[in-house]
Amino acid sequence: MHKVTLIPGDGIGPSITDAAVRIIEAAGVGIDWEKVEAGLPAIDKFKDPLPKEVIDSIERNRVALKGPLTTPVGSGFRSVNVALRKEFDLYANVRPARSFEGVPSRYGQIDLVIVRENTEEFYAGIEHYIDPQRSAAETIGVVTRRGSERIVKYAYEYARSHNRKKVTTVHKANILKYTGGLFLDVSRHVAAGYPEIATEDRIIDNMAMQMVMKPQQFDVIVTTNLFGDILSDLASGLVGGLGLAPGANIGYSAAIFEAVHGSAPDIAGKNIANPTAVILGGVMMLRHLNEHAAADRIERCVREVIKEAKNVTRDLNPDSGVGTTEMTQAIIDRIHASS
Ligand code: NAD
Repeated sequence: MHKVTLIPGDGIGPSITDAAVRIIEAAGVGIDWEKVEAGLPAIDKFKDPLPKEVIDSIERNRVALKGPLTTPVGSGFRSVNVALRKEFDLYANVRPARSFEGVPSRYGQIDLVIVRENTEEFYAGIEHYIDPQRSAAETIGVVTRRGSERIVKYAYEYARSHNRKKVTTVHKANILKYTGGLFLDVSRHVAAGYPEIATEDRIIDNMAMQMVMKPQQFDVIVTTNLFGDILSDLASGLVGGLGLAPGANIGYSAAIFEAVHGSAPDIAGKNIANPTAVILGGVMMLRHLNEHAAADRIERCVREVIKEAKNVTRDLNPDSGVGTTEMTQAIIDRIHASS
């Protein structure tokens, strides 16, 4: 029996994490879920978006499945997602994007993984207005040799253990000569230790164009925090949208699994959110827990249900009339039928 922290999140979070929990149960994996609240529901209850019991629970269990958490735009409390990544030094954000049969998209045969540095640069929260009139603002993006080295190594180790052929480093070292330059330098140095894996680098603006024009050329992509955040939403758009894109936040002592997308307030409470992204986040979690058979089975069933395009939410088939709960049930039925 595994013990796992469950953070339902807010917005569409509770409904899609509930779907993931039910599906993991249906696949027969024994998990004792420790449910804790963070974000908006925690403010309501504890006046704190990241209560100590959340930290304690993740510290104890070392693995968490998390629904999206709202971050107020421009003002208000800082991102709880970023705070969790910092608290547990979850330095690697792994975001795969693989084509789905049956999902209308511009290209097929995309199978890439974005490995995003998750703790440094512009997300470190070093920012302020320079005067009370707010006549200018500064955000300081710190990139360290240690931070760059460990994320690039993670990308190459990931490539090696997943039998991937190429790593593309994405940067802006032509303009950001110090932060971008350091990241690129370190990545070239690390790459030399992996001669069996092809290595290339791309400047971010060119990369954005190439991902839109010819995404099949990419395999593993490693990049700094902000570029990784943006490119991973772009990658999800290439394979059918945010409703399908999972992500893992990995550190030395803990790992948090989630969807790439946010709390989607525009569709919350309507039973129309696609649960797939967080379910596939759960699949990544099961692999992390060495539950490979159950992970493969769930992923296969999710892909089969999506391929049929009947019991899928309206982002995948506008005519389906199917909601989150019905799609979840269709996946559960498929899992039961496959046993
Ligand atoms: P979002 O990802 O929540 O939504 C973007 C668009 O995608 C919306 O139109 C939404 O309806 C759609 N969408 C997202 N998930 C979907 C799903 N499962 N099924 C169908 N459609 C889906 O981005 P946003 O609106 O910019 O952000 C909302 C909030 O989420 C913000 O407060 C943001 O800070 C937060 N956020 C949290 C995380 C996280 O918890 N890791 C990640 C990104 C954004």
